Amino acid sequence: MVPMVLANCQRCSKKDWNIVKCNYCGKLVCNSCLKTMKHVRKRHISKLYICKSCWTALPMRKKYRHNIPVEM
Ligand SMILES: [Zn+2]
Ligand SMILES: [Zn+2]
Repeated sequence: MVPMVLANCQRCSKKDWNIVKCNYCGKLVCNSCLKTMKHVRKRHISKLYICKSCWTALPMRKKYRHNIPVEM
C-alpha cells in the first residue's frame, strides 16, 4: 500500500489526495484526469495508469492495451 500524499495535479493543477503517475507522459495526475488503470504482472511495475491526454493519443493507448509502460 502506497501512502497517499496531497499533491498538485500536473494536468489540471487541482490539489488532490489521490495523485498517481501516468505511465505514458510521466505526469502526476488527479483522479479526474486519470482515464483508467489496470493491474499488470511486470518486474518493475504492478499497476498501469493512463491519463486522459495520453488516452487520446492512439500510440499510447495501443501500448496501454498491450501492457507496455513508457514511463516507469
Ligand atoms: Zn487533474
Ligand atoms: Zn499521460
